[in-house]
This record gives sequence, structure tokens and C-alpha cells, in this order.
Amino acid sequence: MTDLLARLGIARVLNAAGTLTRLGGAVMDPAVAAAMAEAAELSVDMWALQEEASRRIAAATGAEAGLVTTGASAGLTLAAAATLAKLDPAAMDRLPEVVGPREIVVPRTHLTGYARALRTAGATLREVGIDDRGTGAGIRGLESWEVEAAIGPNTVALAASANQATEPDLPLICEVGWRHGLPVIVDAAAQLPPRQNLRRYVEMGATLVVFSGGKAIRGPQATGILAGRRSLVASAALQMLDMDLRPQAFSAPEFFPEGPPAHVPRHGIGRGFKASKENIVGLLVALDRFCHADLAADSGAKAERLGTMAAALAGVPGLSCRIEPGWHRERAPRLALCLDPDKAGIDGAAAAAELARLDPPAYLVEGRVAQNELLVDLACLPARDDEALVAALRRVLS
Ligand SMILES: *Cc1c(COP(=O)(O)O)cnc(C)c1O
Repeated sequence: MTDLLARLGIARVLNAAGTLTRLGGAVMDPAVAAAMAEAAELSVDMWALQEEASRRIAAATGAEAGLVTTGASAGLTLAAAATLAKLDPAAMDRLPEVVGPREIVVPRTHLTGYARALRTAGATLREVGIDDRGTGAGIRGLESWEVEAAIGPNTVALAASANQATEPDLPLICEVGWRHGLPVIVDAAAQLPPRQNLRRYVEMGATLVVFSGGKAIRGPQATGILAGRRSLVASAALQMLDMDLRPQAFSAPEFFPEGPPAHVPRHGIGRGFKASKENIVGLLVALDRFCHADLAADSGAKAERLGTMAAALAGVPGLSCRIEPGWHRERAPRLALCLDPDKAGIDGAAAAAELARLDPPAYLVEGRVAQNELLVDLACLPARDDEALVAALRRVLS
């Protein structure tokens, strides 16, 4: 592995920052890599492969249908494209130009950098709500009437982003969507584990849900899952898969149980982010492993490694270590490194910058860097790198 990087002339990285996309996403199990290598040597009908993927995603999520995309972000673009064009081939062919309704209503507190993935399909965002809770200015969160007031003849969907802060809003948004007959798109990219979240948003009433394949599922980095209502997933499939086929020969019974569409569209807006056969196979194998993994045992093993690291960091001036359990028993613990800048002689941001300048560079979770806290996340750090990480931390902090 390190040989490969040496041949390419690229530095290896000590990744204690988790499944960050900019550090390559999840590290795959060798069984997943082996399945991908096998797929790489085969030809396969991509519609048949995505139809099998749909059956498996449906079984894992409880949704009617599913599609392997090239990531959660791509899934959001395809979800938006599906709600804009539905099964109208002419509308598909026009995207990202839209004739007719094009607004997706999204609470301001749910806006992330990935919201642009919705706009990429041609949608415009209609923002609602006020972030009194998040800003600390007050106690009120999102209320249904605010969402309803933004709905009109130009609305095609509602969108939400699932995380611990937005959790209370999701049933409300699903309920408003249901009442107005509008699809609800949920970005649940990083909400796994717990595994019950694979089914949770669908059960709650979400119409389309996206998950990253390259995070906790530990599939290929460039994969994701779009799960939900069959007609919309079918629309997404039509807008991503290659459509250079004889229209008369097209059927895809998994997506179109009542027969294929009357007219078959040309290549869609998602054609530029097609999922490869290797990626689809890799994601399916990883999803199966994820569904059957012993995550509690894995968390136990990680807690032990973190305990050893904390012990090895004892005595570093200005540093205190604390093992933080995951917020769910299926979520792995992390080691919080709390710096007292006066005693340590360095603050959190400077320490993170120093770590990234080492050879090999080391990366930690920086979400709380402003509070002078760095966290060690072991999702992508092989145990053989533990000692090197401790040495890097001692070097920067001592
Ligand atoms: C990671 C992430 C995405 C993007 O997922 P990809 O699979 O990398 O495309 C989207 N939304 C949220 C909230 C994420 O955390």
C-alpha cells in the first residue's frame, strides 16, 4: 500500500480525522476491494446491475427502490432532477433548464455546502425559518406554518438535512410534505451508524433519502445510495444511466413494473456522474457487510486503542485526554485532546496546522478546534499507525 504511494511519489497520511472525502473517504475492507477487482474484469448490463442494487437497497432501507450513485451529493442532484422532471422525457432532456415549477423549499437551519447539489439539477432553493436556536438568540425552532407559507404552485419538493441538531424538524417536514403531496428529500449522508437510520427516514415519511457509500458503510469513496419512491428513483436512474440503447429494447422491470415509459429520454443530467460496475459491486458488498457487522465489538476494540494512546500521551504539558463514547452504541468512541494553550504553548488551530506539516502529515478531527480541542477518530487509521500518530502528537505538543 505504502509502496504504491512511494511509486506515485505521494506522501502517505496519518488519517485520524475520519472518513473525510478530501483524505480519500473510507478505507475499504479487503473483501470489498476483491469484489471490485472481480467486477473490473467483467462486462455486465448496467441496468440489470442497478436493478439488483435496487432490490438490495430496498431490502436494507425499507424503501420501494434504490440506486447506487457516485455519492450522496450526486444523489441529491439526481433526487432534485427526479422531482423536477418526474417521468417526463422532454423535461429530463431540458434539465438544468426548467419550464414550470422548480422551487425546493429548505429550512435555513438545514442548509449545508451540499445544498448546491440540488441547484445543480436546475432547482432554485426557497429558504425558510429563522435560526434562533442555533445562534443562541432564542428557543424557537422550525415550525410547520413557516414551511407551509413557502409552498406554492412553483414548489416541486421539500428538502431537509439530517443531523442531531435538525432531528426534531424531520417529522414536521415529512408531515407537511405528505399533507401537500410534495416529495421530501432527506440528506442523511453521514447519519450512519446507527444502522436503524437506513430505515428510519423512510419510515418517517421521507420520499427520497441519500446516504454516502464512502463513509461508515466503507464502500468505494465515490459511491452513495439514493433510496425511496419507485417512480422517482426510476426517474433518477433514467437520468444517470447511459441511454444509448434501442428504445424498443428498453424495459427495466424493477424500476418500471407496469412497463417502460412511452418515450425513452436521451442521456440525462446525471450521465456525467455515472456509477461504474466496480463501484456498484463494491457498494453492494460493503452494504451487506455493514448490515451484518458487529459494530459494538468494533467500538470496544477502538476504545482499547484510544486508551493506549491516551496513556502514551500522559504527561504532555497542557494536554488532557478524554475518551468520548459515540452518541449511539453503534458509533465508535473518539479521543478528545483538550489543549490549554497557555500551558501547551500552542493552540488548537496551530497544533492542527503543525500536524499537517509533518512527514507523514497527520490529520485529526477539527470540528472543535476553536475550543482548542482536536479529536482522534479511528475510522480510517489502521492500528499499525497508532504509534506513529502518538509520536506525531508528542512532537507537536511537547
Ligand atoms: C459527506 C456529506 C455529503 C456528501 O456525500 P458524498 O457521498 O461525499 O457525495 C452530503 N451531505 C452531508 C451532510 C455530508 O456529510
